[in-house]
Amino acid sequence: MSTNFKLKHLLGIRELSADQITHLLDTAETFLDISKREIKKVPALRGRTVINLFFEASTRTRTSFEIAAKRLSADAVNISVSTSSVSKGETLLDTARNLEAMAPDCIVIRHSAAGAPGHLARVCNAAIVNAGDGAHEHPTQALLDALTIREHKGHLDGLKVALIGDILHSRVARSNVYLLSKLGATVSVAGPGTLVPPEFAGLIEQGVRVERKLEDAIVDADVVMILRVQRERQTEAFFPSMREYAVHYGLHLSHLSLAAPNAIVMHPGPMNRGIEVSSEIADGGRSLILDQVTNGVAVRMAVLYLLAGAGKQNGTKRTPAGKNGAQEKKERSGKLFA
Ligand code: ASP
Repeated sequence: MSTNFKLKHLLGIRELSADQITHLLDTAETFLDISKREIKKVPALRGRTVINLFFEASTRTRTSFEIAAKRLSADAVNISVSTSSVSKGETLLDTARNLEAMAPDCIVIRHSAAGAPGHLARVCNAAIVNAGDGAHEHPTQALLDALTIREHKGHLDGLKVALIGDILHSRVARSNVYLLSKLGATVSVAGPGTLVPPEFAGLIEQGVRVERKLEDAIVDADVVMILRVQRERQTEAFFPSMREYAVHYGLHLSHLSLAAPNAIVMHPGPMNRGIEVSSEIADGGRSLILDQVTNGVAVRMAVLYLLAGAGKQNGTKRTPAGKNGAQEKKERSGKLFA
């Protein structure tokens, strides 16, 4: 396992090296087993506090971070915008400073504004984890997608991944493009011209191809990732109707005959059944949609563990008081929970 993992915050995949990504994935792999046990809890983050600060709707991500924190024995506190003082006019910065005054080790933030987690990282001592900021990045989603691909294909390098749909508004697409290209996969994106940002065409050197037709992007793909039509971020009409979108960009079983023989299908959720994905695909044997959710807990455990636990980079003690050197070494080698 790589030892040069130095990260205080997790703001995006763009600023990570391939080694750091691999280290996160390797660490997540060691945590997968904990969720299969009868007693799903280890003491790795006992005495640490994780605050989940969510300013946007979330089912999977918020629950996943909460479960991850609890399985590591951290104290997890959830704040959603409707119950926070932001609804009374407090600024994000003031909210963060007040939360900091209660000495959390980690603040997990989801916000509709791109850059909000980076803003907090500049002023907070706690480790900041980006749980999705506007259309910018969603690093833990890309990591859980990569873990799922690795689990099924054994590796990422040399794979062809097709990303289909609303690329423009998708933080999932951005984080995935950075991660997949850093780990040697090639990416084909396809979506309506209005929903594929021009900068994607400039990423050819990083192994990204832009196709107009869904069918062209899927040819020989080992992985097909479908993206949700992000209606909440669409301020204008990007395509004539949902029905027309479904006709041109909805994935059906017949499309998979164009892909590589054992192609797998993924979707970050929540999915619009019958729009970007048919039920026969979503519930079929090629779909790894629920595996992604399972792996999300392990990825978030790894992130919290590395940022708020043994790998903590903020100058405070690296391990809980009283832990001896041998135990610390064992823990850092990732074998503590074997
Ligand atoms: N759950 C993912 C996100 O928060 C994908 C989506 O919402 O479409 O970005």
